[in-house]
Order: sequence, then C-alpha cells, then structure tokens
Amino acid sequence: MLKQKITPQETAAIKKFFNDCKNVVIVCHTSPDGDAIGSSLGLYEYLRRKGKHVNVIVPNYFPDFLHWMKDADKIILFDRQKTLSHNLIAMADLICCLDFNDLRRIDELGIPIGRAHCRKVLIDHHLNPDKTKFDCCISHPEMSSTSELVFRIIDVIGGKDTLTFAGAEDLYAGMATDTGFFSFNSNDPDIFIIISELLRKGIDKDLINRRIQNNYSADRLKLIGYVLYQKLQVFPDLHASLFAIRKEELAQFRYLKGDMEGIVNMPLQIKGHKLSICLREDTEKPLIRVSTRSVDDFPCNELCAQFFNGGGHKNAAGGTLECTMDEATEIVMKALDAWSDRLKS
Ligand code: 5GP
Ligand code: MN
Repeated sequence: MLKQKITPQETAAIKKFFNDCKNVVIVCHTSPDGDAIGSSLGLYEYLRRKGKHVNVIVPNYFPDFLHWMKDADKIILFDRQKTLSHNLIAMADLICCLDFNDLRRIDELGIPIGRAHCRKVLIDHHLNPDKTKFDCCISHPEMSSTSELVFRIIDVIGGKDTLTFAGAEDLYAGMATDTGFFSFNSNDPDIFIIISELLRKGIDKDLINRRIQNNYSADRLKLIGYVLYQKLQVFPDLHASLFAIRKEELAQFRYLKGDMEGIVNMPLQIKGHKLSICLREDTEKPLIRVSTRSVDDFPCNELCAQFFNGGGHKNAAGGTLECTMDEATEIVMKALDAWSDRLKS
C-alpha cells in the first residue's frame, strides 16, 4: 500500500475532470526530458484506455533516447506544427499541463494554452506553481518525478489495473531519468513499491535503462572527454566547478540535442564536491543555458533564481542568460562568491 499523498479534494477533482472530458491535450515543458515525455505518454495511455481522444503537444524537439516509447512518433512538436496544435487546443475540453509549474516554461505554447477556455489541470512536482492559471493544481514537490505523481493519480482514482505495459514503461522511464536511475531524490520507500507494480506489468527495466543510457553517438563520448579534459574549471576551496561550452565547440562534435544531458552531473564525482555549473550556448537562440547540480542541502534553485533567471529543484536547477559567454562566466563568479560561505563549509 502506498502512503496517501494525493488529497481527497485532488482525487475528487481529477476524477471528475477525467470522466467529463472527451478531447484531451497534454503538454509538457520546453526541451522535454525523460520525465516530461514519460509522464505525458503514461497519462496519454491511461486516458486512451478510458476511450478519450488524446494528443500530446510538446513545445519543441525531444532527444532521440526517448523515441523508443510507444506513440512517441505521435507526439506533436508545437514549433513545427503550429496550425495543428492551435486547432487541437481550441477543440480540447481538458488540458493537462505536466512537469512544469508556470506557463512561461513552455515558451510560445503558453499563449494558446493560457487563452484556452476549457478546464486546465496542472500535474507537477516543481516548487511554487502558478496556481492562478489552472482549475485544479496537483502540485507535489516532495515527489521524485511527475511520472511518480501520474502513477499515484491513476492508482488513487482506481485505474491501476487498466495501466498498460506501454504506460508502465513510460512512467518507469520518467521516474528513472528524474532520479538519475534512483541515485538521488529517491529515498521514499514508496518509489520502490511503484517500481515493483510497474515490473508486474511486464516491463524490462534493464532494457529501458539501456535504451536511455546507451543510445549516444561516439561524438557525444568524445564531447564528454573534451569537456572534462579541456573545459572543466575546478575551484577546490569552494567544492565547486564550472564548464562553459560554445556553439562552435559543440559543432566540432556534431552536437545533437540531448548530447549534453548528464554531463553536468559528472563533476559531482569529485570527492567533497557540492556544486557543478554548466554554461552552454544555445544552438538556436542567442542565449546561454545554465545548468546546475548540487548535493545535500545546497539549493541550486535559489542560486538560479538569484543569478540566472531560473529555478528548479534543490539539487538540479537551471536558467538562461542573455549575454556573451565572458559576461556569463563573470556572473557565475559573482554567484560563487555570494554563496562561498555555504560552499566552503
Ligand atoms: P537542466 O539542467 O537539466 O536543463 O534542468 C534541470 C532542472 O532545472 C529542470 O528540471 C527544471 O526544473 C529546472 N530549470 C532548467 N531551466 C530552467 C529555467 O530556465 N527556468 C526555471 N524556472 N527552471 C529551469
Ligand atoms: Mn520532472
């Protein structure tokens, strides 16, 4: 038995919304990750089994290592299929917003979603949701992933038996990727009860792990080597590090979206390290993406809110800077200085 985390009010509301709807649109955050796609397709599977007409619309491209999921090829990319997306949003009687806390996290897709008059529900695990934009806000930052939350919702409304094999694969993939394959944010024993339920649906978790982790090009491995050997700056006193990578450097390694995934975690392998920061020039827009990772109680989300126009989770957060790489590096130095007491201790 799972501990009951979803409130009776949330349960009643979501049950009613799922029963009343016919045409559902599911959306998740920009540059979708494993949890965004996994939770969206997991919910898609469930609602389709209930006989609903469902479409998943994502703001932009998602990485190749997630394309194995059933019906991943049916996901609509908003930036490439705007007319279709606008029409589906206009026809929807329920919009489910997954794995983000604020419409700004879905960029231009936030405009039609914000304007839509139908019911909107937020299902998410990020802090500080913008509750004003939703008819029902199921926000649980204490959970490992939105995929865990989707499982719990399906369970609490009595739908667990109808969860399909593909749905179980999707939700497993989301939980695994958002916890670094159960190496962080995953001490709640319930997580492993959920995994055992998903295994009972017949999923092969070892195969899913391989599909996600061993699906890169040789160029990506060389990019990792280059970053660690040539680019990584370690600040031993601060137990922190930075690497900054430009577009031209990425191009040398025939960069594909997703190739930088996980590299920011690697400096945390240094003994006693607390904080890793990555600056990456965006390949499409004139801006710099900031990714941060930490251990224990160092709050990356506060650091990112303060210095990088962003936010996120305590141990994994990000943001963006609109400036040159040299200016961005200076901002990182200021941020490290401002947090130096916490980092040194
Ligand atoms: P990543 O470093 O993998 O891009 O992002 C890690 C986490 O940081 C994401 O799951 C998300 O919660 C948060 N995040 C990344 N970029 C942004 C941003 O620009 N704004 C906010 N608010 N959060 C972000
Ligand atoms: Mn997530």
